Amino acid sequence: GLKPQNNYITKNEILPMYKPRNKWSHKGTYGHSLIIGGSFGKIGAVTLASKAALKIGSGLVSAYVPKCGYNIIQISVPEAMVEVDNDAALEYYNFKTKATVIGIGPGMGTVEKTALGFELFIKENKLPLVIDADAINLLSQNKLLLKYLPKNTVLTPHPKELERLVGTWKNDFEKLEKITKLSQDYNLIIVLKGTHTVVVNGTSKYFNSTGNPALATAGSGDVLTGIITGLIAQGYKPVNAAIFGVYLHGKTADIAIQNTAHETFTASTILDYLPKAILDLF
Ligand code: AMP
Ligand code: MG
Repeated sequence: GLKPQNNYITKNEILPMYKPRNKWSHKGTYGHSLIIGGSFGKIGAVTLASKAALKIGSGLVSAYVPKCGYNIIQISVPEAMVEVDNDAALEYYNFKTKATVIGIGPGMGTVEKTALGFELFIKENKLPLVIDADAINLLSQNKLLLKYLPKNTVLTPHPKELERLVGTWKNDFEKLEKITKLSQDYNLIIVLKGTHTVVVNGTSKYFNSTGNPALATAGSGDVLTGIITGLIAQGYKPVNAAIFGVYLHGKTADIAIQNTAHETFTASTILDYLPKAILDLF
């Protein structure tokens, strides 16, 4: 099992977290993920995150996007329900939802009306959150919002997004100190993405063992957001969803490169290999 301090995440730590499905379950048992994001020309990010939430097993998935994304998502993700804001960028965040967890940020943009609506959304929201991409950038522009985030909110920055949030660092040690402080100050789970993605929960740090440069491709992080959101929907504790999510995400690439080139792997290939990544646990 997981020890509380510095951990290297391998199959041994992951397998005990796995929640097998119950024969008497139904889709309601596995939660309802809501993916919020998208802007004109960046609806694909929400498409990928929504597909990932479904593929990892979220019972229901909804997407909340600008109106320009309505047809795109309905056609490319038929399993998802779609609600819309105004035309080209989010502004009102006035969805009615029965969702049990929200993943927010992919493709969202940071124009002023999106930022103002985001502030109201964060101040009113009570649901568990996974915050990625432009939603992290908007938090960086308005750090007073950090204190409104529910306990155990998961943030999934890549290094540039982290830098906008906490400033630059001199070395990896200082970087980890800054992440730990952010996590402790606001009770957040920070997933710093990269070659060995690290999940920080207070003073505990979990370093991922899977993944390779095949993952360095457009949309890769959007898929991770959907995976972590979909795991929380199914009842995984947010910290376990983050750890399990980064492990599986990386594992898809490790399995895939046994019979494809790094270069030909795309974010959609992550979804194609999720079944093998899960089966590899057993
Ligand atoms: P994003 O930059 O938001 O698209 O996220 C990129 C995703 O790909 C993260 O999950 C990274 O951990 C992963 N990734 C990118 N480059 C590498 C690499 N060289 N080795 C392993 N994982 C990577
Ligand atoms: Mg990203």
